[in-house]
Amino acid sequence: MADSSSLEALVEALRRLPGVGVKSASRMAFHLLQHDRDGTRVLSRALQQAADQVRHCERCNTFTEDPVCRVCLDPRRDATKLCVVETPADQAALERTGAFRGYYFVLMGKLSPLDGIGPNDIGLKRLFDRALDGTVTEVILATNFTAEGEATAHVIGDALKQRGLTVTRLARGVPAGSELEYVDLGTIAHALVDRR
Ligand SMILES: [Zn+2]
Repeated sequence: MADSSSLEALVEALRRLPGVGVKSASRMAFHLLQHDRDGTRVLSRALQQAADQVRHCERCNTFTEDPVCRVCLDPRRDATKLCVVETPADQAALERTGAFRGYYFVLMGKLSPLDGIGPNDIGLKRLFDRALDGTVTEVILATNFTAEGEATAHVIGDALKQRGLTVTRLARGVPAGSELEYVDLGTIAHALVDRR
């Protein structure tokens, strides 16, 4: 083992990344220090800056550096429609289709009881406040077609229907088990048009 507590601290820090064990963390640390000192500093500054600057949009919960993100500030969108997605990448996939002109709410996750992720962890209270603002009439559930995405859609759908909103789900053109991010645009656009 190398004789450096800074190196050990770096390996420990890298292990915080999802899917990174002690072996790959060590490999990354060695690579950075041996072959890419500049990159190491760039990475360090980028992490610091992102940690200080990036926050959640007050309306849709996505990442932004302003109190309210650009999409939420766009007045030409249809304020009666609110589309619920799991991640900013899913939102981007829907935006690329050009088929949806309403607003979004980004959960930044999904319900996953096995991993201890419950309603409070994915901002459901904020979603309900947003959906029940008096302007939204239809909530479109565009969580992924995985078991957890379906369960999340179910919980949200039940709660919002009880409160009198129309709730629709992307149609079943999207293959089961798939994440929107990786589905082609035409399929997503159809699923949106055929929602029920
Ligand atoms: Zn926003």
